[in-house]
Amino acid sequence: MKKLIKNGTIVTSSDTYEADILIESGKVVQIGRNISEVDAEVVDATGKLILPGMIDEHTHIESPFGGTVTAPWKTESVAAAIGGTTTVVDFALQPKGKTLMDGVDRWKQRAEGSSAIDYGFHIGVTDLRDDVIEEIPTIVKEGIPTLKVFMAYKNDLMIDDATMYKTLAAAKDEGALVMVHCENGDLISLLQEKCIENNQTEPFYHAVSRPIEVETEATYRAISIAEIVGAPLFIVHVSGDEPAEVIRAAKAKGLPIYAETCPHYLLLTIDELKKPNFEGGKYVCSPPLREQRHIDALWNALKDGTIEAIGSDHCAFNFNGQKELGKDDFRKIPNGGNGIEHRLTLLHTHGVLEGKLSLNKMVDQLSTTPAKVMGLFPAKGTIAVGSDADIVLFDPSKQQTISQSTSHQGLDYDMFEGFETTGAPTDVFLRGKQIVKNGQFIGQLGDGQFVRRNAFGYCYDTIK
Ligand SMILES: [Zn+2]
Repeated sequence: MKKLIKNGTIVTSSDTYEADILIESGKVVQIGRNISEVDAEVVDATGKLILPGMIDEHTHIESPFGGTVTAPWKTESVAAAIGGTTTVVDFALQPKGKTLMDGVDRWKQRAEGSSAIDYGFHIGVTDLRDDVIEEIPTIVKEGIPTLKVFMAYKNDLMIDDATMYKTLAAAKDEGALVMVHCENGDLISLLQEKCIENNQTEPFYHAVSRPIEVETEATYRAISIAEIVGAPLFIVHVSGDEPAEVIRAAKAKGLPIYAETCPHYLLLTIDELKKPNFEGGKYVCSPPLREQRHIDALWNALKDGTIEAIGSDHCAFNFNGQKELGKDDFRKIPNGGNGIEHRLTLLHTHGVLEGKLSLNKMVDQLSTTPAKVMGLFPAKGTIAVGSDADIVLFDPSKQQTISQSTSHQGLDYDMFEGFETTGAPTDVFLRGKQIVKNGQFIGQLGDGQFVRRNAFGYCYDTIK
């Protein structure tokens, strides 16, 4: 049956206006004033903002790491939906010694039938053999036009500069985009050993062993390699001032460099890692949380377009039984935090209501630009005739306090525990089907579909 959303205010990345939206067969088919359609279920959006479904381009769901595994699709996709996110692009990893497609198939099997929202995958390249380079065109044709490489995690995921060059060159030929974790893994390994030798085993030393310089250096090196290849590059989870400055300079040169930060780098400081009784372990993620000056710099970088996307880097490990693996050695703490559920409401509260971002810019950085960069636009990331009816009704005055006890994420703590927020999604539609009503999940696991994404997208505009 058709649906007609009436009396709301549509907010896209560029416009804010009052109009009705007619939905048929999962798509937006008409937008206009006073649409009357007798044959449609009417949804009243009085007093609500109507936003495109949020896109989270950076999640790690049901992902094995260090002998343990992150929270599963059945909880995290529901938490995402309630938070207004209708599509995630999750990180699959190439198993060592196997093909890229092996990695994608493993991740697809876990998501299929278990996800409440749409999903795509990036493929993390861990072992770039010649046959793997030859596999890149196939993987792109399968709808996976984004590859991820790691400059950190020595003796595990870390790749060398030559491998980065080869990955960028092969990706460029196919119109794919390389995403990079920028931290100098070799130096981190050395600094970690020094900490342990000095008996500095607590969570705080995770941050001490990963100073901003290791991120700044790797960011500069990654951009330099991309510049030599002439390829676009997406820098994930930028955590501070100097790396943002390096990105700003690269953009000023006209290089096709794109960058993301995450809610925790915008809202939490390094002091969280000092919490007693190993509580600091809850905040161990890489790059680490940093001082206030970096937070200020990141908000400025969002404002001036140096950073254009805000992904959650949701990578949820329980405190009990998982984070605790590193109780006596911070190197063994599984890296990652949460953010899939409250990304929109946190950015509305601390970005829009504090005057740091306009509503349109928030929509742009949480939905439209990620959709463009990830090859999902214009099916997703906007409200337009012909787009998927992935739609969020947002009550801009709804007050909430974030707490693990009321969260839908499948973990036993919340990095944002006690944060008071204003504004929350009330109703969410996925390709026209209502999956959240009055803040309650009413969809089904399996409503989500794998989304094939397009190559030669937005990031190739200036180099085609
Ligand atoms: Zn990540």
